[in-house]
Amino acid sequence: MNHETMLPRTHRRLILASCLPLITACALCVVASQVVGEDKPAPGPSPAECLKLLKDGNARYVADQRRFANLDRKRIAETAAAQFPFATVLGCSDSRVPIEHLFDAGIGDLFVVRVAGNVCSDHEGGSIEYAVSHLKTPLVVVMGHTACGAVTAVVENATTGRSFRHLSEHIIPAYREAWSEHPDLGHDDLITETVRHNVRRAIADLIKGSPLVRSRVASGELKVVGAVYNLKTGGVDWLDEKGVPPSP
Ligand SMILES: [Zn+2]
Repeated sequence: MNHETMLPRTHRRLILASCLPLITACALCVVASQVVGEDKPAPGPSPAECLKLLKDGNARYVADQRRFANLDRKRIAETAAAQFPFATVLGCSDSRVPIEHLFDAGIGDLFVVRVAGNVCSDHEGGSIEYAVSHLKTPLVVVMGHTACGAVTAVVENATTGRSFRHLSEHIIPAYREAWSEHPDLGHDDLITETVRHNVRRAIADLIKGSPLVRSRVASGELKVVGAVYNLKTGGVDWLDEKGVPPSP
């Protein structure tokens, strides 16, 4: 994470490499200006452009048309001294939710925080703050998934270990919200609804616990988006593309 030792030009090259699908004729002019030695700073991708990268990557994943870009020896060498990921993703530890794979992303593309139930306690929030403040990722995605085991354990009030109980304290409010809003749902549908509420709860915890994230969202530099990954289809259902209000 020794990003500060890298030159801004290297930063721009890596970001552009990650965003190749979005490069327009205008962006190509920016690249050309770098080649001929002009030193005008190239703007980084916007939150909306980064979101499109993730959507396009997931579409390729679902269609079984992954490009497997940014995974070769050249990319390893390029990113050895610094990282400039274009998005931060808080997701579940579930082995069936491989974050980089399902977005067809490569080395140095995503800053990933994984924890069972994709909750946002102090440790996860601190990791996200690092990515937002030091790595300047303009997009944070909080992503749950269907049939989440951690959410299911809370819904079923399963017996768990002591440490999991700390984790479940973040999920229980989401379960109560889902149940109070939809008391007639059956077991599986209640879990699905709790997964959605749990994503929104994690976003709320992130916003509430981080003045830094709040200010970046308010300024428009950062977008925080909720999503749910479907284990059966491989697709991502985007819950909120309008960002999150700056106040908790
Ligand atoms: Zn899970």
